[in-house]
Amino acid sequence: MKSIDNYGEIFSPAFGPAAPGSEAVTLPFIDDALLVTPNNTIPDISAIKSLGEPLYSLKIGCIGAAVCEMRLWSAQQELPAGLIKADLRRLINLWPQALVEAVSRGKQLAAWLHENQFCGVCGDKLETSPLVPARRCAACGFAAFPRISPVCIVLVTRNDEVLLARSPHFTPDIYSVLAGFVESGESVEACVHREVEEEVGIKIQNLRWFGSQSWPFPHSLMLGFLADYAAGTLVPQAEEIEDAQWFRRDNLPALPRPWTIAYRMIQSWLDQESH
Ligand SMILES: [Zn+2]
Repeated sequence: MKSIDNYGEIFSPAFGPAAPGSEAVTLPFIDDALLVTPNNTIPDISAIKSLGEPLYSLKIGCIGAAVCEMRLWSAQQELPAGLIKADLRRLINLWPQALVEAVSRGKQLAAWLHENQFCGVCGDKLETSPLVPARRCAACGFAAFPRISPVCIVLVTRNDEVLLARSPHFTPDIYSVLAGFVESGESVEACVHREVEEEVGIKIQNLRWFGSQSWPFPHSLMLGFLADYAAGTLVPQAEEIEDAQWFRRDNLPALPRPWTIAYRMIQSWLDQESH
């Protein structure tokens, strides 16, 4: 087992039956919770021996040359001595990107396996395909794939001000950029324009790509854009937006945590402004 400090490589997803070797990184999950040591490290194989045979044992990708596997036990399984369930939102900030991505994939595949035990069409038992992430029904041919939910997230600026808002379910005092789920049948670009207009009542222009982030709570893919204000007055959407304001860089409210794409977008705007 490599130490966590050595996970500097890139994570690339793959899928197939597990074939443990000396270079394998094994991620143990109970339900969709990753087990870690109290020091927030991935446990050695010996630490998970007492769990017995897992429900599923799958190859989920590679971190550099190291094959990455997940083992999944049911929610009823007791925690092995000396291990805890990971607080993943916090660990995202502490772990190297490649390990975060591997764990993010493992968590989402664990939820997918748990939620797709029976066919949604005919009710028969689903089986995992050997080489692609699909749960297939032999009786009717239905296949269930891991769910990814695209979310548009957009940083809107007006001269030297940035638009930030807060939703009632945010941590108190935190303001962030606007975001919303892409609807079925909708383009990502149309979603950005619609969400901004729905949530704060303004029109935007000059949409630019910023970047993306997998957000495994539970299966979002954040698609980040930058945009300029075009027209209108801020009118927060009832129940969705508690407050929305234009902020100057010397008067910013409390922001989301640094490992979120929202924070990176705001920070990139701050960096530009300071030049
Ligand atoms: Zn079926």
